[in-house]
Amino acid sequence: MFGDTLKKALDRIELEINGEQIERLESFAAFLLEKNRQFNLTAVKTMEEAAVRHMADSLFLLKCADLKNKRILDVGTGGGFPGMPLKLYDPELDITMLDSTAKRIDFIKEAAARQGIEAAGVTARAEDAAKGDMRGAFDVVTSRAVAPLNILAELSMAFLKKGGMFMPMKSRNEAAEAELREAKNAIAEMGGSFEGRKEYDIEGNGPRQVLFIRKTGETPRAYPRAYNKIAKKPL
Ligand code: SAM
Repeated sequence: MFGDTLKKALDRIELEINGEQIERLESFAAFLLEKNRQFNLTAVKTMEEAAVRHMADSLFLLKCADLKNKRILDVGTGGGFPGMPLKLYDPELDITMLDSTAKRIDFIKEAAARQGIEAAGVTARAEDAAKGDMRGAFDVVTSRAVAPLNILAELSMAFLKKGGMFMPMKSRNEAAEAELREAKNAIAEMGGSFEGRKEYDIEGNGPRQVLFIRKTGETPRAYPRAYNKIAKKPL
């Protein structure tokens, strides 16, 4: 059962959840799997998998920072992760979800509206949006499964206010360590500094972590570059 699986997963990260919140997340998961038959939103196939790999995993961010009264951006949200579970857990949170694919952003807005919640979604490439009025506008920027960290830092960090926190969600393994080492230069170029990480384990989801990268300086106006340049010559 979705609710039991979700509760058990959240017990592992010591996060409480009430019946209303479970209902909202369950209804979203069902809609996600239904729409996934029409177009690609997730590799997840069952409600139980969705509870663990999408809902509980996304909600771990609530254990990483006080998100209340913060402006939060989810870069490359896809089917709405981690943004939607956070918004459905606490509809008061100020979360903007950004993706380059209009179908995915339309899905998120429709999914939220079905529950009487208004979700802020933006269809744009991150490297374009970061040149406009979203630049320097967010306290927290997060992202999951979008790009290696050196590329992701360039796509994401210009959105942060000075003093804000970039919190990418990553697997926890040797490849992730190499990724972090290779991103040190990009993080510094973006005006950031790596402050640490919070590790977590949810059964059925593998070892995971959230990284904490503080924007201590300014991101030079030249960044982010066009995507072909970022990909061809990562910082
Ligand atoms: N974050 C979601 C998750 O964890 O399930 C989706 C991950 S999916 C593998 C990557 C998403 O990032 C896709 O929806 C894609 O459209 C989006 N994306 C990739 N590059 C992007 C960019 N430069 N700007 C905006 N969205 C981007």
